[in-house]
Amino acid sequence: MDQAIAIDDAAPLTPAALTNAIDLLTRAVTQGLAVTSASELLAASRASERLVPLALALRSALLAEAEDQRAGEIDGLNMADVISEERRIPKTDATSELRRASAHAAFPNVLAAAAVGRISQPNLETAVKTLEQMQPFYSADEFPAAEAALLKEAEGTVPAIFRKKCRTSLSQLDESLRRANNAATAKRRKQSFDERGLVITLIEDGEFGANVWGHIPTEYLRKLKPALDRKAEADGRAQRHSSRQAKDLRVRMLDALFTLVTGSRPPQADDVNGDDASSPCSDERPDLFSGLDASEPASGGTTDPNVAACVDAAGSASATDAVVDELLAAPERTRHLWDTDAEDLGRDRRLASRGLRELLTLRDGGCVFPMCTDPPEVCIAHHITSWEAGGRTDMRNLALICTRHHPRVEYPPGDPNHWTIVLDDAGIPAARPPVRYDTARQLIYHPRLTPPTCGMPLPSQVQTLAAN
Ligand SMILES: [Zn+2]
Repeated sequence: MDQAIAIDDAAPLTPAALTNAIDLLTRAVTQGLAVTSASELLAASRASERLVPLALALRSALLAEAEDQRAGEIDGLNMADVISEERRIPKTDATSELRRASAHAAFPNVLAAAAVGRISQPNLETAVKTLEQMQPFYSADEFPAAEAALLKEAEGTVPAIFRKKCRTSLSQLDESLRRANNAATAKRRKQSFDERGLVITLIEDGEFGANVWGHIPTEYLRKLKPALDRKAEADGRAQRHSSRQAKDLRVRMLDALFTLVTGSRPPQADDVNGDDASSPCSDERPDLFSGLDASEPASGGTTDPNVAACVDAAGSASATDAVVDELLAAPERTRHLWDTDAEDLGRDRRLASRGLRELLTLRDGGCVFPMCTDPPEVCIAHHITSWEAGGRTDMRNLALICTRHHPRVEYPPGDPNHWTIVLDDAGIPAARPPVRYDTARQLIYHPRLTPPTCGMPLPSQVQTLAAN
């Protein structure tokens, strides 16, 4: 290749060399490779296969060191946030990738073998997990020999067999393994207990249910899980005996939890569209649509305006019907309907009121930075145009941002060198990336704030487009 870069074999590369490599690869992707024969194509394919493990190994080593040195803090982030930003993956996924990278980097010999393709990626995973468990049994002098033997096995063994061999080897150490693991186990158990908790995140205002996330430590699990299992199993048996089809286990688990906590039977499918207490008549949404609903109570006997609105909607196929239907079909699209100015504080007060925060929670649902998964509780109401620059404490100038991402977006909206938050024409918050991330600087919406479909034109629309 005529683009060869002069490299001093013995010296570590500068980060600039990495940038050059990226430029080179980018050109190869955008401009293609000038391949003139099948044998050249084969050689190029082989080269690109070698590229993958090399890139992965380099990445693990870099990430582990960056995590060690807390390099992300330069940007006010942790390294998981950085991965999430660069790779456009949810932060939870980024966190596990970071953990994996650190584990790999802890065994540089194994990582080096994987980098040059001497061992496969699956065997790298197995080897690292096994070595982590083996390490406590060996002295610093003994360990390299054990590691070398494992590595040799990893080179010539298919993943499934290698995993099995590793398990068997570990079991030989088991008795002492247990002892050595005791301290580590105690530490992890305490960590688990400290992390106990349950987070119920309402979707919209609960209209579409809620997502549940939590961590159950062993101490709770030992009593909770058997109780749920027993109840779910008993329900399943009863359902099978009554010749109904038994519900899926995960449904039975939730039903069991409901019954054990509330003491009453869980709602049935028939109740969902019925006129029970969870119908739109009794929830708190209608007041958010003031201006859409007929605001005058119906001239019947009822005086509750919410009930009146429902009666009205049910009685006549009004325009409200269509709007509400559309809301239910694509709630994300119509969040701007909640962009009321009822709670706006203007220049009177810098901090958002409780009412404003509630509206923001409804609209944003959590940190609006792309891919961030932080819930509203850990977010601040960020002034899009800063308070100091005369920004107002209004719905149209606020967005929820978590405390870590906040310093990242504290620049005038549209600043070309930084991430900033803007509100689009529909009143939906979006992130405007810096030039280095996307030269076109197109708005990036949090997945929570995007329409429920991919926006692909329907076949009939494609034909229309083609005809024009
Ligand atoms: Zn965030």
